[in-house]
Amino acid sequence: MCLFRPTYYSKSIYDVPLSFFEENNIKIIFSDLDNTLDAFFEKEPTKRALKLVEDLKSVGVTLIITSNNHGDRVKNYAKKLGVECHYSSKKPLGYKLRRFIKNKNLNKKEILMVGDQILTDVISSKLTGVRVLLVEPVVNKDLVITKFNRFIDKIIRWFQHKFKILEKREVTNNGKK
Ligand SMILES: [Mg+2]
Repeated sequence: MCLFRPTYYSKSIYDVPLSFFEENNIKIIFSDLDNTLDAFFEKEPTKRALKLVEDLKSVGVTLIITSNNHGDRVKNYAKKLGVECHYSSKKPLGYKLRRFIKNKNLNKKEILMVGDQILTDVISSKLTGVRVLLVEPVVNKDLVITKFNRFIDKIIRWFQHKFKILEKREVTNNGKK
């Protein structure tokens, strides 16, 4: 069950107060793309995604996109957003992200993974050894390959809500968990 349990929870990455990152020593965000930053069908970053990156920069936080989606989709979006990216990340496996962290000489303690899926983003954070913020999907539509995972995800979340696991980890309200 621990593999499914996020460190933090928020309705959306856009609801997290900027002060949260400093208070929790987060310097780097490994953000999922599809249904975390923007809907999977959005080819260009939305205004709020562009603003988020600027806001994060202003408090010394760097956002890097880490996505299981293919290179073209991720690179084009990341370029328009003005951020670095890691595509075909093979989440929930952790080996590619661990290698990325090592090659970039990043400090795992300063990294926060953010994603909308327990079966990919949350498990991968555990296998990578970094903290994770679980969010709700931006839209209720999914890529076909995500539909099965989403079904399982909903069942796990139902239990997590029932036992207040997500509520205890909520950071939406002024950074208070
Ligand atoms: Mg996603």
